[in-house]
Order: sequence, then C-alpha cells, then structure tokens
Amino acid sequence: MENVPELEFKGLGVSSGIAAGPARVLKPSDATVPDYAISDADVPRELIRLEQALIVTRRQLRDIQQRVGSALGSESARIFESHLHVVDDASFIEEIYHDLRTQKRNAEAVLHQASERYAKTLQNMEDDYLRERATDIRDVTRRVLRILMGQTTEPPIAPDSPRILVAADITPSDLAGLDRHKLLGIATEQGSTTAHTAIMARAMELPAVVGVRDLCARVGEGDRLLLDGVRGVVVVHPTPAREKEFARVARSRQSIRKRLDALKDEPATTLDGHAMTLVANIETPGDVSAVLARGARGIGLFRTEYLFLANAGEPDEEQQVRAYAEVARHDFPDGVVIRTLDLGGDKLSPTFHQQPEANPFLGWRAIRLCLDLPALFKTQLRAILRASANHPHLRIMFPMVSSVAEFEQANKLLEECKAELDAAGVPFHREVEVGVMIEIPSAALMARRLARRVRFFSIGTNDLVQYTLAVDRGNDRVAHLFDPAHPAVLELIERTVAAGREQGISTSVCGEMAGNPVFVPLLMGLGVDTLSVSPSAIALVKAVIRQIRYADAVELAAEVRAMEGGEEALARCRKLIRQCAPEILELAE
Ligand code: PEP
Ligand code: MG
Repeated sequence: MENVPELEFKGLGVSSGIAAGPARVLKPSDATVPDYAISDADVPRELIRLEQALIVTRRQLRDIQQRVGSALGSESARIFESHLHVVDDASFIEEIYHDLRTQKRNAEAVLHQASERYAKTLQNMEDDYLRERATDIRDVTRRVLRILMGQTTEPPIAPDSPRILVAADITPSDLAGLDRHKLLGIATEQGSTTAHTAIMARAMELPAVVGVRDLCARVGEGDRLLLDGVRGVVVVHPTPAREKEFARVARSRQSIRKRLDALKDEPATTLDGHAMTLVANIETPGDVSAVLARGARGIGLFRTEYLFLANAGEPDEEQQVRAYAEVARHDFPDGVVIRTLDLGGDKLSPTFHQQPEANPFLGWRAIRLCLDLPALFKTQLRAILRASANHPHLRIMFPMVSSVAEFEQANKLLEECKAELDAAGVPFHREVEVGVMIEIPSAALMARRLARRVRFFSIGTNDLVQYTLAVDRGNDRVAHLFDPAHPAVLELIERTVAAGREQGISTSVCGEMAGNPVFVPLLMGLGVDTLSVSPSAIALVKAVIRQIRYADAVELAAEVRAMEGGEEALARCRKLIRQCAPEILELAE
C-alpha cells in the first residue's frame, strides 16, 4: 500500500473522548436554489407557499425539540428554541415577504438571499453568541428550502458504517437527525465551546473537535482518522506509532471512567473522614433521571425559570405544583432546593416583554422582578408550598438577594401564601426551610444579618464573580478576567461560610466553580460543606473529594488566600489535583 504521510491538525476539544475510524466528509452543499421571476398574479400563491413551508418547519422543529429533549435532556432541546426564534422572527420573515413582493422572484430565491444576508452579517461579529446565530439561520433556512423544494427527508448524510464526520460546520438539527450508533466522532472547521453543536455533542457523549482550519480540503472520503476531544487533535493517515499512542490513551481514560462510575453509590468523604454533601443542579424535572443515574443524593438548585422559558406561556399554579412534586417525589435524602424565578438578565421570557435594558444583569432580574409582580411570585410560592405537603424535604431559595429588606419582603409574601392556603384548608409543610443565594457582594458582606433569618446559604459563584470583579459572565472578551480564585471572591466566600457557621446553617456553592474539579479542594478548604454541580460533573467531583485529605484542602485554601489569584492560584489548585488525583486532569480539558 502506498505510504501517505501523516497530518496533524489542532483545534478546540469540545467533547471528550477518543475516536478512530474512516472519515465521512460532508462537502459544503452546492445544491442549487431555484431562482426565477414570477408574475404579479403569482405573488399571492408564492407567499402562501412560503407561509406554509414556515408552518411545517415550526412543526418539524417542535418535533425534533421533543425527541432530543427526551433522548438528551433539556439543555440539548433548548438549542432548537433558537431555531424556533428564527422562524418566529417577525422582522426577518417580513423582510422576506417584502423582497418577494418587490423583487417578484420565487420563495426559495428570496428566502435564500435574505438568510445569507443576515448570516453573513452575524458571521462577522466579534461575539461568539451572535456568530452562532448565523449557523442557526442557515440551518433553519436549509430546512425551509427542503420543504419548499419538496424534499421531505433529512439530508442523506448518515454514514452507512460508523465514521468520523468531517465538515465545515455541522448544524445541531443535522446532528439530531443522525443515528448516534453510526457516528464515531465529529471534526469541524467552525465552532466554539459554547456552540450549540458542541453542547449537543457533549450530551450525546460524542468526541468532538471544532475550529480545525482547512480540514475539509485535506481529508478524503474514507481516510483513516484519529480524534481526541480532550486535547483537540485530529490526525489524518496516522502512523502505526500514533495509532498505538491513541489506543493507549483511550484505554487509560476508559479505565478511569469505569473507576469513577463505580463510585456512584460511595459517599463523598475525604481520605481523612471529612464528609461533603454532593448534590445536583437541574433545570427541568426531566433532568432528574441523569441525577439519579449518577448517584447524587439531592437537588441543590432547581432553576425554575426554565419552566417559564421552555413553554410558550407561563405555567399555571397546577402545572408548577406538578413540576415541583415530580422532582421532590424521588427519594433525595439530601433534599430538593427549589430556587424561585430568576428571570431577567440573560434569561428573558417571551411572555414578559421586558423592555431592553442598558445593563440587564444590573437590572430587573430575579427577586426584583418577582417582588414587582407579586401575583406571579405568589403563584410560584403557593405551588412550592402545595408540593411540600407530601415532600417535607423540599426547600425554597430566593435568588439575587441584595439586602435584608428584599429578603423580608419575599418572606412576607411567602407567609401570606401560607395564611391563604391555611384559610382554604390546603395542606403544606409548615416548617418548609427558606434560604438565600449569596451571589451579590452586598449579600456576602451582610451574611451575618441574613444568616439570622434563613436556614441555609447557597453561593452562586457565576454571579458572585461577575458582580465582584465587574466582569460580564457571558462576554468572551473579558472571560480571561473571570477569576473565581480572585482574593476578593474568596474573601466573600469565607465571610459567608463564617456567618453561616455562627448560626449553625449550611453553606453550599452551586455556581460552575463547584463543578470544576480543580477548585473543589479550594472550596472545601474555605469551609463550604455542600457542592451542587451539573449531573455530568458529579463523578469527577466525587472522585476528587474521595482522593484528597481535608487537611490538605485547608492548607491549600490558606496558601491560595495569601495569593493574588490568577495563574498562581490556579497552578496551586492544579498541583494538589496532580498529586492526589492526576487522572482527573486527563479527563477534564
Ligand atoms: C450562580 O449565579 O452561580 C448561579 C448558580 O445561578 P445562575 O447561574 O442561574 O445565575
Ligand atoms: Mg445566579
């Protein structure tokens, strides 16, 4: 056989795992879009054709959303929410209708033109999020075009035998339409960690590398490929030595994962006997199955606003009672914390028609919005209370509390709800525990006053870091400044823990920092007793807890507290993991 030289490409590993196999290359589709002039008399018919295609598209997207939701969970299903926004975008659709009327060209042609115009503008934006919207627009447009052109089936890109898919970009709906068993991995030229396709690949546990320049031109159909979704490497025509190296790494990671899975029912206790509470963050009741599968013993954060974001309308009291009871009915010895609505900021519900704000994260969000809309808030509080009747381990948590007065107003509405339920003879758990999120510096600074009024604290580091360091948590330009180990952040965490201890209440961390294995010992050393993490992080976090000594975590925290944060603090945190649980660093990018 002819000797073809090996080629190595570097990209961004966005979904861990190693894949080896033949390539299936998806060249950019040149399928021509029909483009022809129409007469004045044809305009109404063409408009109706377009309108009907949009209706079918909406239906298809809802179907996919449901299928993906039940197979892969709510996070993946939400991707199709952005696609639905495209077909529901009145100004975009109106522009296409306008083009059709004025240019008098067929529906396919005006749709294709308008979507390319939008997509190209978005593609050149600095912001990752906006660039991703270009992919959404193209994905949805392809679907509408297929319907207009009478192609009812999904594109024939499913490989017949398992392969690694190589493409300029793969859209989430193309990915959703593929048979997972026929896919070994994916490698694309475009994309980022936050891209929807990357999120889906992670949910499908499909190794993926994105952002690999010039890949399509250098890979032929059927070429042998190796792909590493942790290191972000794609190798074409691998040498025997390279094959051996990848096989060795794959074996080693597999045995680490197996070992982690075996910890499912083991306690989250350190080598020197310090027990931690390890619970999970969820967004919808559907996420509970993943939590149970990974052996977490409680829910530390139920982000209830997703019930409002997922549905077109607001869930009523009965629907909410069912959703909360659905989560609480499971045997969770470590309890279920229902966080009241945290709408606003980057989570805008179409039903509230919030005015655009110059600084949405500093604006009408979470408890502020709830206190201004007492009917909405009380409906939720009544629903939680009613669900607590048969589930006394259910707890209530208020987000974004910035003052004692805010907590007291919220609590007053809760007491009103209890009195109303009493008067109506509706049962609820009288001693339902109430806690607050500590995610605004003022709350952390006043933790002693708050601790006297609540039964638990949960630190939301995503917001606490954002507000303490004035770093927008969603802006990739300042992402390098988002430093959870910054001394100011650590001081606020420490004060919160100390205030909680004084009053004998628990302090958990439910921000992403808690799910990052590297920061787990630091949080433990600072005195945090509970970690609430996404279901996929449970095994990694538990493994870290079980492999360190609490005394080492305390020593680490003391050392890091004396540092200035940044690289030095991160390096110290990594050092402990490298010493005690080096294999964890093999799995975490
Ligand atoms: C946080 O801010 O850390 C948090 C857990 O809440 P959210 O991410 O929902 O704002
Ligand atoms: Mg928050």
